[in-house]
Amino acid sequence: MDITRRSFLTLSAIAGLGVGTLGFSKRLVDLVPLSNRGRKALHPVYGNSNTPEWLRDASTGKMAPNPQWILHHTVDLQCHSECGLRVKIDRKTGRIQRIIGNPYHPNTLSEYTSVSTPLIDTARLPGTVCARGNTGIQSTYDPYRVLVPLKRVGPRGSGQWKPIGWDTLITEVTEGGKIFADTDDPASKDLDILGFRGLYAKRHELIDPNAPELGLRTNGFVLQGGRLVGTRMTFAERFVHTFGSVNVFDHVNECELSHHIAHQHVYSGINMTQPDIREAKFIIYWGTQPGDANFPMQTQGKFVAEARAKPDGLKYVVVDPKLSRGGVVGDRASWLPIKPGTDGALAMAMIRWIIDNQRYNAPYLSCPTLAAAQAMGDLSHTDATHLVIVDPKHAQARSFLTAELAGLGKSHAQDEDDRIVIDAATARPARAMNVKSAQLDFAGKVNGIAVKSSFRLLKEAAEEHTIEQYAAICGIELQRIIELAREFTSYGRQVSSTMYRGVVKHPNGYYNGVAVLLLNLLVGNMNWTGGLTAGGGGYQVKKGRYDIESVPEAENLAKGVIINREKFHYEDTSEYKAKVLAGENPYPPKRPWFPLSSNMYTETVPSAIQRYPYGVDILMWHKATPLYSVPGQGNPVIIDAVKNPKNIPLIIASDIVVGDSSMYADYILPDASALESFALVDTFPTTLTKGTGIRWPAVSLTSKTPDGRYICMEEFFIDVAKRIGMPGYGAKGIPDADGKFWPFNCREDFYLKCVANLAYAKGVEGDAVIDASAQEIAITALDDYHAKFAASLKPDEWPKVMGCLVRGGRFQPYTGARKGDQLAYQYTKRLHFYAEKTGNTRNSMNGEFFHGTTRWVEPTTALGKPLDKLDDPKDWPLTIITMKGALQSHSRLVSNYTLREINPSNGVQMAAEDAKRMDIANGDWIWVVTPEGKRRGRAVVLEGIRPGVILFEVGYGHWAYGASNYQVGGKRVLGDAVRRAGIHLNPIMRRDPDVWQMSLMDLTGGSVVFYNTKARLEKETANV
Ligand code: SF4
Repeated sequence: MDITRRSFLTLSAIAGLGVGTLGFSKRLVDLVPLSNRGRKALHPVYGNSNTPEWLRDASTGKMAPNPQWILHHTVDLQCHSECGLRVKIDRKTGRIQRIIGNPYHPNTLSEYTSVSTPLIDTARLPGTVCARGNTGIQSTYDPYRVLVPLKRVGPRGSGQWKPIGWDTLITEVTEGGKIFADTDDPASKDLDILGFRGLYAKRHELIDPNAPELGLRTNGFVLQGGRLVGTRMTFAERFVHTFGSVNVFDHVNECELSHHIAHQHVYSGINMTQPDIREAKFIIYWGTQPGDANFPMQTQGKFVAEARAKPDGLKYVVVDPKLSRGGVVGDRASWLPIKPGTDGALAMAMIRWIIDNQRYNAPYLSCPTLAAAQAMGDLSHTDATHLVIVDPKHAQARSFLTAELAGLGKSHAQDEDDRIVIDAATARPARAMNVKSAQLDFAGKVNGIAVKSSFRLLKEAAEEHTIEQYAAICGIELQRIIELAREFTSYGRQVSSTMYRGVVKHPNGYYNGVAVLLLNLLVGNMNWTGGLTAGGGGYQVKKGRYDIESVPEAENLAKGVIINREKFHYEDTSEYKAKVLAGENPYPPKRPWFPLSSNMYTETVPSAIQRYPYGVDILMWHKATPLYSVPGQGNPVIIDAVKNPKNIPLIIASDIVVGDSSMYADYILPDASALESFALVDTFPTTLTKGTGIRWPAVSLTSKTPDGRYICMEEFFIDVAKRIGMPGYGAKGIPDADGKFWPFNCREDFYLKCVANLAYAKGVEGDAVIDASAQEIAITALDDYHAKFAASLKPDEWPKVMGCLVRGGRFQPYTGARKGDQLAYQYTKRLHFYAEKTGNTRNSMNGEFFHGTTRWVEPTTALGKPLDKLDDPKDWPLTIITMKGALQSHSRLVSNYTLREINPSNGVQMAAEDAKRMDIANGDWIWVVTPEGKRRGRAVVLEGIRPGVILFEVGYGHWAYGASNYQVGGKRVLGDAVRRAGIHLNPIMRRDPDVWQMSLMDLTGGSVVFYNTKARLEKETANV
């Protein structure tokens, strides 16, 4: 029998009755989106609009809360900008009716409201959200939500499920055994599955006694996270590490990792910088555009609009193959349509011109220490003058010259100022700490050792090509490059060179990213008003009143190499040493190692299948969809391998739907949607002041555990931990500052303690959150919440904690952003032209050292084959790029029908010039053919795209997530064609021929490659 998705919900709810108490009729009402659509409007003028949140007394002008509504301030997750939300909930039905911005949150109002302001006084201060944020209601009330645990009853991926109870889920995955004996699947019926208990029992056994560095058997549990942010990641890490596994990570190499690693090269210890947009005079946006994907998206768009509207305000240039909304041209904005992946060539051309024409800030760069810089009124310093050993035969080659090696006495290894420079006053080598100004451009010998200054290394790298050659590589006219370099060096410190994905998602992404960032060092813009910033950061929420991270009994239990071979040198492995001992060439290993990187999400599935460096017993996907999102991974070979339980015996997906990857899991654990979940998350550096937002449940829709907790990832971990006797859960849970342990039996026991830490964290002027007033508690319905979770905190902490919950976080006032021409929060560590760590790290595929300074590097495969030789441009004349649009930036937004109404499908965007040459008209059906396969879509012909480039907007072309039929309890759930619409090219993106089932990769920075797949187009009539 077929059932519609609405009746499936009934079924789910009925099935859920065994494990929960929520009646299905109420849930049905909750789950129908846009409940008034199609009916006669309730009011002839106001239509179906809700009544306002606030009521104004006409005689006094005073505002009062409208008792119909509960207001709830939380943090969005429709994208990762973490904007504060004001959620309007019907007090009677408990249903969310509207989402706007939280006026206390820095993302949503340029001059956001002080946390000392009573809630009632924000009645006339609505914050903003973008269209995606506004439709977040539809992610929560998605008709395809999975609300009860599901277990497959057929083979993996067969689309056959049955609802199971909470206790059954916990018992089966914990105790293991022949748990698939009840399925109609010959491949797994007789398999003896090692559950959490069996694996935990092996927590003191090595995976391989011959390779002790791999760590313990418990590393066989892997949590591959897709959406684990802030303290939700802390929660997950606490469980995984206490279990004895190192394998917990998020999706970072999928989206932006080389951006982070390039930042760590230049600004050690931080992953991101941003311009002080509102006071900047000139910004170059590389691989991103104001108002498109960046952090935070809507805030950056707003700041740029404000700044360019000032009489002598901001000018900016967008360097990107595609012209989007943020790149609109005019007298204050221009677009440089660069060839994909050649940003490094353009940046190196600019660096060369700036150095050749002495347009860099020489006095600033000549300061060898912070003290020297501050003495001359500057705010940061670089290693430009520091000497690097360049003799390749020297034992310390590629490292900074030390005092001892320079013959200047004993080195103080802990003190980086002990590095050696050439004193400008004496022209002699000296310790940096003793020098006011040093020679910038030096090459020579010190104590017989060949050395060069960091600046000199960059200069020589820039001189490897002429500006004309760089222009030919990147496809930007020579004169335009010179104009750009001149303009960038024309505004003093009020400029920035900032980037995002477009620069780094290439095999050479790390080097591109470093080149783009080094432009900032040449002008010395760090910490200046209108310059570059590391932001105000967040508050301490993991320690303080409570220590939410530590589990003393499990300290140091988790050890070994992460399954993705990250943060570990291949040369330190037993495998490498054994090969060397046997006289074999140790290079290349079966798959690359990534010593500089972390969160190598895209490598998890193929590594597990190949059991390299070891196999996986239990794989848990948390809102992770590698088969949809990883370039090249959703292909038949990988999907067949995932389906075979011998490769990965147990797959549990914590998801809110049967998704494009979770459809291949053994169990689906219903998770909380963003509006039902917790996490404390810091603001991004675009915010110049301190701030931490609180995501906390506005509603709860999943079924309940037998003792009344809403099912989600956290309750799963708590119950598994208690069942197998892990320390740190149950009665002896979380220690407070006095060493007293507090029970840990539900997620609130954890997250409310994070809020207490936030509320009492050391603050700055004006950021103390006032205690929640009786009126605020009433408006936000916190009285019930307090009563329910009173035992999670000390009684005296509640008023302040509720003060933070009322406001959705704690935020320093915006007035604390700047002090005159300086930013209030200053990054004072050294800025690096030369990264010693990178320069001393080998590429695991060929044993060669990475470059310690940046240069133009041609994109290649893992074993060094140039991509133009891999796929001849004569046969493959086009390059595919992707775009995260303002309406459809993430795969999960497919459930937001309002966004789909605005933009029901994507297409293959192409330049008008290319279309004309190929005789393709707008709207034609075409095939995109790559070396990995072909996909069909409609042509979208544009002027604003570089010829030779085609583009698809991500988030379309789903095969699950409600896009196709499946069965639950023998009843068919019908997929929705709206969710299948559009084209998705990730599954046919180029894989690296040198490594089994690996996407093209940036081996230095660790990013997966999205923008280097070659393609050709064929009209549908062609025989392809
Ligand atoms: S930019 Fe939009 S989608 Fe992203 S967090 Fe902010 S409101 Fe939500």
